[in-house]
Amino acid sequence: MNLDDAGRSPAARIGVFGGTFDPPHLGHLVTAVNVAHELDLDRVLMVVANEPWQKVGERGISSAAIRLAMVRAATAADDVVEASDLELVRGGPSYSVDTLEHLAGLDPAGERFLVVGSDAASGLDTWERADELSGLATIVVVERPGSTTRVPEGFEVVHVEVPRLEVSSTDLRERVRTGRPLRHLVPDGVVSLIREHGLYGG
Ligand code: ATP
Ligand code: MG
Repeated sequence: MNLDDAGRSPAARIGVFGGTFDPPHLGHLVTAVNVAHELDLDRVLMVVANEPWQKVGERGISSAAIRLAMVRAATAADDVVEASDLELVRGGPSYSVDTLEHLAGLDPAGERFLVVGSDAASGLDTWERADELSGLATIVVVERPGSTTRVPEGFEVVHVEVPRLEVSSTDLRERVRTGRPLRHLVPDGVVSLIREHGLYGG
């Protein structure tokens, strides 16, 4: 068997879980770990959006470097889920279709799984070059509390059951602002980074 430069065997089953991750939380991690288990994935990449173009302008978004540092801290102890800086390295607005194409080029025989929560799934048809996504990855949808899954027409998806955790980055930012606890909703290393960098008006 040929190994790539990083010593990994090709033809891997890779989960691609993109997000703003401002901050990453247990909802993200529990999703990643359980999708990996259910679909027998070799790795799940938590791909930090460089410029989350659908969110830009809505609020101040933490720098991509800090969001990457938080995802690295959140995944440090995990051997299946890892932080990916692919979209930071590429720069500019972050489109999953570009990321999937890049990964397909690295491992043409591999299989890719694009993981989205139900709220994100309902907007799949608004994504850049949406018609190309299904050719590049199996789309995996997980239910998220507070949003019913309405997958737009034309997308075939696989549903995976994961524990439903009503945690969102929006709520966590509000918690910091109002001085409520983050512990056990966010890994300790991420809490430290939030405090260290004075994120979210804490
Ligand atoms: P925000 O409130 O700022 O939008 P978020 O908590 O929704 O943050 P994102 O970075 O926007 O986090 O989401 C990245 C991906 O993770 C999306 O596909 C989203 O649906 C999914 N996701 C977020 N929170 C959960 C959760 N609690 N359970 C399952 N999936 C989730
Ligand atoms: Mg969101």
